Amino acid sequence: METMTNNVQVEKAKTTKIHDVDFDNLSFGSVYTDHILVCDYVDGAWQSPKVIPYQPITLDPSAKIFHYGQSIFEGMKAYKDADGNAWLFRPLDNYKRLNKSAKRLAIPELPESHFMDGLTTLLQVEKDWIPTNPGSSLYVRPFILASGNGFHASPADEYKFIIACAPSGSYFSGKVKVLIEETYSRAANGGVGYAKAGGNYAGQFYPTQLAIDKGYQQVIWTDDNTHEYIEEAGAMNIFIRINDTLITGPTSDRILDGITRKSILQIAEDQGIATEVRKITVSEVVEAAKNGTLKEMFGAGTAAVVSPIAAFGYKGTDYDLPELEDSYATLLKKYITDVQYNRSEDKFGWRYPVQ
Ligand SMILES: *Cc1c(COP(=O)(O)O)cnc(C)c1O
Repeated sequence: METMTNNVQVEKAKTTKIHDVDFDNLSFGSVYTDHILVCDYVDGAWQSPKVIPYQPITLDPSAKIFHYGQSIFEGMKAYKDADGNAWLFRPLDNYKRLNKSAKRLAIPELPESHFMDGLTTLLQVEKDWIPTNPGSSLYVRPFILASGNGFHASPADEYKFIIACAPSGSYFSGKVKVLIEETYSRAANGGVGYAKAGGNYAGQFYPTQLAIDKGYQQVIWTDDNTHEYIEEAGAMNIFIRINDTLITGPTSDRILDGITRKSILQIAEDQGIATEVRKITVSEVVEAAKNGTLKEMFGAGTAAVVSPIAAFGYKGTDYDLPELEDSYATLLKKYITDVQYNRSEDKFGWRYPVQ
């Protein structure tokens, strides 16, 4: 074990898997780096985080994660610039959101230094794993799970905070065809939709598979009460451009406060693009598609930055979106990735050096 200047202990792996990895053909999140960060909550306190070799974790069959799904996660990326320097994008926002999720799931909140020192130490150790091919990055997955035991339906007394990393290629998978959901719901008022809680995603798999069976790639969730308002996608916020105005729904109990979403709103305002944060009805989007004022729809999230939508289905009809030369999606994606890869001025102070 060596101890770094910020008191994070590091136990180095004896061998590296890096030479087995085909960095030209990386799929999303399926190859993992040599180390993880682990930090245990025991005896009522978060202990010191440690970097250790990537390895399975052992849990008791009665660990509460298995029974009551007490788990939360974050998703972020590390980027390398042309000079080989490593960067994160707004990592403190991920830290704050992790604690927001923790609070809602009755998980003890994590001190900022445990998160930030643990994260930067892990990334220093794994720096060679941050890919340099265009559009590629190191996907970083912080998560907390209830490791404490008991069949009693109550919060666990022990937890594990872990960060694992996966090198990922450029995410662009082509434009997607989405289905506007009329039956199932992702989140409800007063529920946990705003938290990155594991169960929110498990609950989406079945309705998403039904949409896939019908020829769509993703579901656009609508409000649980009336199914008349557009909410968000599975792990992306949704933007809609009608004429030249960019519209997105307000964050709420049900809609996750995406870091990409709020960055896009800030850039759009700075670039003189009219924005509106307000509820969007499905009927207004259908109407705009019919009369030609619907110009763009795209998802916004860390994985793909922006994911343009080619068509949407609603009540048995598909509506195609036009192919635009100068889409907001392209402009916004370029702006954000230029900041992330240190190719442009960072006027909002979003870049964070890994050092
Ligand atoms: C993670 C996530 C997003 C996107 O958040 P970013 O911070 O932009 O990555 C949007 N919606 C849901 C449901 C999510 O889980």
